[in-house]
Amino acid sequence: MRPDSIIPIKYYSMLFTELGLRTELETAVSEMGFEAPTPVQQKCIPVILEGRDIMGQAQTGTGKTAAFGIPAIQMLDQNEKQVQTLIMCPTRELAVQVSGELIKLSKHLGKVSVVPVYGGQPIERQLKALKKGAHIVVGTPGRVMDHLKRGTLKLDNLKMAVLDEADEMLNMGFREDIEDILAYAPDDIQKVMFSATNTPAIRSIMNKQMKDPEMITIDKQVSTDPDIEQYLVEVRDSMRTEAISRLMDVHDFKLGLIFCNTKRQVDDLAQEIKARGFATDVLHGDISQGGRDKVMRRFRNGDLDLLIATDVAARGIDVSSVDVVFNFDIPQDPEYYVHRIGRTGRAGRSGTAITFSAGRKKKNLKFIQKQAGVNLIPIPMPSMKEVEASRAEGLMTGIVETLEKGGLKTWIEHVENMTEHGYSPVEIAAACMKLQAGSEETPAVNGSVSKNGAHQPSSSAMTSLFFSVGKKEKIRPGDIVGAIAGETGVSGDSIGEIEIYPKHTLVDVPSDQAKHIIKVMSRSAIKGKKVRVKVDEKG
Ligand code: AMP
Repeated sequence: MRPDSIIPIKYYSMLFTELGLRTELETAVSEMGFEAPTPVQQKCIPVILEGRDIMGQAQTGTGKTAAFGIPAIQMLDQNEKQVQTLIMCPTRELAVQVSGELIKLSKHLGKVSVVPVYGGQPIERQLKALKKGAHIVVGTPGRVMDHLKRGTLKLDNLKMAVLDEADEMLNMGFREDIEDILAYAPDDIQKVMFSATNTPAIRSIMNKQMKDPEMITIDKQVSTDPDIEQYLVEVRDSMRTEAISRLMDVHDFKLGLIFCNTKRQVDDLAQEIKARGFATDVLHGDISQGGRDKVMRRFRNGDLDLLIATDVAARGIDVSSVDVVFNFDIPQDPEYYVHRIGRTGRAGRSGTAITFSAGRKKKNLKFIQKQAGVNLIPIPMPSMKEVEASRAEGLMTGIVETLEKGGLKTWIEHVENMTEHGYSPVEIAAACMKLQAGSEETPAVNGSVSKNGAHQPSSSAMTSLFFSVGKKEKIRPGDIVGAIAGETGVSGDSIGEIEIYPKHTLVDVPSDQAKHIIKVMSRSAIKGKKVRVKVDEKG
């Protein structure tokens, strides 16, 4: 199956209009960077709003918190200072995570009070918060029961109970607590249950507690293209950008597509990737159609090294030369995974897909692998030694080509002059390679070397650079600043004087960024024109 059309196009704005949801919720969702409802949200939100009970088979990582959180907040009566929604979670970590997400979702509604209650936290703090009046309580069953027995939590006005990760709660022996807790609430409340598995114990609690529940599953079997090599790189989140940079270098990928789950992540990552010297652009729902066409043109023409996108924005991208797809974030649904990696290996070519994962996220990835019927091969992040070796290899290829082309007379004279100073030709050649590879560059963030030596300490010294475009091309200072800032990640503020001549432009840049700017801008275009960039010798 070619996975081009499997995900229905639906932005959050459409869902909000369709369901008549509160604008305050829409603002919050947009600020959280969500662009489109995940499949579990698309399926659950309308049904929960109808008041139906739900049994959803969904993992953490699929967006299930917002799937019940959005309708719960939508249906909340803020003026009624009573607990209206109770969410039970197996662990304090999940309780904290869920209440954090609900607080963000209700941020613009003003008076919504979300109180987490879990063991391990001093009960006095929780007593105080509950006494002030809570609309939504998120807690572990043991501590919820504790509060009910003390009379510090009342469920007389409860409208909805959510059992999050119900299978985990049952495994932990909370069944009795859960049933006792629900007995404190009115009989006719709406019940929502999420569980990764559908075990007999789950079915038994469902049959006992729920009324004709709507079964929501997202376990549709999806298949991937056999021509795509799929790898897994286990690195800490903070090392993912470095890993992309090294993988691009070592495997000599020319064109890559990076997927993130939110538009905010797309924008943040673009800054980091640009700062490493890659020609980068972004695609997400906030980009206008005109902007999108421009980005796609650059991508198709090979003017970009990396395009960063959200799932919905990248739908239908059909560029045959995409060498690699990176899953910066683990996709929230197996179908997303299949669609993402299907952007490479097109037009009969083979492709590579690399997914980053670490810690708790590994569980989500396991689920995706199972559903998509794939087995990702773990590979390590390339070491700096490998990066340097591949740079050296690239350099050597370039050197051999240059030797074969000839025209080296003047350069040979320079080298001969240097040998008179006591250096051997081998030493001189090695120094040239080192200089070219930039391997003396100081480590960047995370103690690693960035692709083009960005992030080096800035100095106040400036260097004048020559750009081979000028008045003839109708260049204005803004074009130069915009191109440098956009392509290299160097801040526009740090760029000094700009003098525009008929056929060239001189630009003062911080000396410690000059090499980086030359390298990146020499691969880029200004106003659609390729430029030559070098240090202005007269400067
Ligand atoms: P959950 O499955 O609820 O634990 O959600 C996993 C992660 O996905 C959380 O960080 C959420 O903030 C995020 N998330 C939830 N819904 C969306 C969405 N529609 N788009 C992007 N990210 C989302």
